[in-house]
Amino acid sequence: MLALLATCVLASVPGSAPAAQRVRVSIAYVEPKAAEHAAIYEALKTRRILEQIRDVLSPYRLPRKLTLKLEGCDGVDNAWYEPEEGVVTVCYEYIAHVVRDAPRETTPAGVTPDDAIVGPAAEVFLHEAAHALFDLLRIPLLGPEEAAADQVAAHMLLQFGPAFARRAIGGVAYMYATQAKQEKPDAKAAAGTHPLTPQRFYSLLCLAYGSDPRAFGDVVSKGYLPQSRADVCEEEYAQVDFAVKALFGPHTDKAQRKKVRAKFLRKFEGDAR
Ligand SMILES: [Zn+2]
Repeated sequence: MLALLATCVLASVPGSAPAAQRVRVSIAYVEPKAAEHAAIYEALKTRRILEQIRDVLSPYRLPRKLTLKLEGCDGVDNAWYEPEEGVVTVCYEYIAHVVRDAPRETTPAGVTPDDAIVGPAAEVFLHEAAHALFDLLRIPLLGPEEAAADQVAAHMLLQFGPAFARRAIGGVAYMYATQAKQEKPDAKAAAGTHPLTPQRFYSLLCLAYGSDPRAFGDVVSKGYLPQSRADVCEEEYAQVDFAVKALFGPHTDKAQRKKVRAKFLRKFEGDAR
């Protein structure tokens, strides 16, 4: 099988940042080995999903290259960050699982079939990229790394305006809600490194609601997020926002971040009108 192109793009403000500060994020849509992944490969490539994740990561000044890769994993339904090579891998199998669970039509919560696929696809890359940023930038963490990676990924999804945030968060919340129904949490799950799926669902909704109680007001009024948790979500979001700014701020090219944000706002807020 042909290992597809790894396009290395130096994302920077033209003519401004010196070469040493340029972000080096490579992307690779590896041609799938399994025929059943061909449609996912084509769809994500056409949607330029990796290019958009690369844009989101472009403001970070990384000390070495980070590669984002979509690849067939011989039946393994997973995603991971490999620190030696600096590679984030998301398996087509993981996306295929998300596609299988996606609704056939828009849900009562307003999640479209498309959001239910693209949201989780973006989130898994950002979650793994968060592990990569922790490693590459030597970010100190208190609390479990998996919970921190969830928070950083959610925070990233919430920085590009309410139209994009609603779609992405809605899609990821739908995935967690669906998985929670399929799972039977046992001692092994409770002892695992990841928060339990229902906890990931509520923490995601809490950060979204806390970031913009108006845009996400319906997650409380429709009963998806209990009022008891909702009451503390603005504080919870402020805590994460403070940590992200304090820890990543010194490694961030703010002009590039502004540029990327404007690009997303043009695309998604434009769609919403
Ligand atoms: Zn993780």
